[in-house]
Amino acid sequence: MNEPAKEEQLVSKKTLPEEKTPAKEKTLAEQAPSSYECRSCGYVYVPSKGDNQGKVPPGTLFTELSPDWRCPVCGVRKTQFVNIGAQGAPSGFAENLDYGLGINRLTPAQKNILIFGALGLGFLFFLSLYGLH
Ligand code: FE
Repeated sequence: MNEPAKEEQLVSKKTLPEEKTPAKEKTLAEQAPSSYECRSCGYVYVPSKGDNQGKVPPGTLFTELSPDWRCPVCGVRKTQFVNIGAQGAPSGFAENLDYGLGINRLTPAQKNILIFGALGLGFLFFLSLYGLH
């Protein structure tokens, strides 16, 4: 009964030296450029979209924006923005994208639509049963 617990302890205590551990692989979302959100108004700077109003071409990283760039909505400085990670990138590793019947390729937002859309459809199906006589 106690055997598996002991084994786990041994594994967790056996830590490899820093140089021998393999380099941490990054997921697609970690590789994609980060979006930044304005803490003041909630505006999100997405690098792939840029900023039309501030004449920032699409593909410009937030860190590459000039220091006097201001939030196009409320006008606060860059320092008021917080990194919210990549938006619109699949959250898994590149080698796993072909599994899961294509669901692994979906972005988190698309997965939300799929999940809650399916729940909504199921709910409507059960409501439709009231139509039976
Ligand atoms: Fe803002």
